[in-house]
Amino acid sequence: MNNPQRREALKKSSAYALFFGTLFGCGIYISPKLYAKNSFLRPPAALDEKEFLATCIKCGQCIQVCPYHSINMYDITHLNSIGTPYINANERGCYLCDLLPCILACPTGSLRHEVQRAEEIRMGTAYISDINGCFAYMGKKVEKKDLKLLISNQNEREAAVYENYQNYEGKECTICADMCPYPDKTDAIEMVYKEGKAFPQINSKCAGCGVCAELCPASAISVAARKTYEEVYI
Ligand code: SF4
Ligand code: SF4
Ligand code: SF4
Repeated sequence: MNNPQRREALKKSSAYALFFGTLFGCGIYISPKLYAKNSFLRPPAALDEKEFLATCIKCGQCIQVCPYHSINMYDITHLNSIGTPYINANERGCYLCDLLPCILACPTGSLRHEVQRAEEIRMGTAYISDINGCFAYMGKKVEKKDLKLLISNQNEREAAVYENYQNYEGKECTICADMCPYPDKTDAIEMVYKEGKAFPQINSKCAGCGVCAELCPASAISVAARKTYEEVYI
């Protein structure tokens, strides 16, 4: 076969592989809907974005008290939101920690004080953004080089996360499902096994805390900020 013919044949076979690969992937796990990614992931129990922006006084109290160093402050590159708190789930999710100190510390109620339990928190909804990257789905074991350097390891709580995480070296990956901080974690995420494949399934109680996105060694999970489970999946 001459080169142009060979290139054409290769192009066709790649297109078929992509089509059938996608079809196969979609067939066994629930795919998220497409949606505009235009929301910020705010700390737990944040008011609706408009109200949040109108009431947050940018005091940074929530940032100060978070024991997991999960909350950051927007800088000048986010003009309307400059000084307001946000969570970058790829770097450090919210661990839905005891007593929710960020909410207690907020002096304005921009983080709603009536929310007192992790089960009441809905920051967004996780979704699998790259099923073909997922180690479990691809049958790949976790290697030392895959385990990310967690950005913050400054106290006992963070050290516990770090230690637990390092234990996955050489094992099959179930990190997202095991380390989800939601109280009844299988209500939020669980590993499912179908047609010889393992993969995480996000369930309806997912709080959108972003810990799965932070810890996934394949960066295969993302969080749709401020989206409900129904908006993402149904
Ligand atoms: S609930 Fe805890 S871990 Fe989450 S942002 Fe608030 S203080 Fe940080
Ligand atoms: S953490 Fe979950 S999504 Fe990421 S590779 Fe492991 S099983 Fe897959
Ligand atoms: S699945 Fe668990 S870890 Fe991931 S965002 Fe939802 S509640 Fe958080």
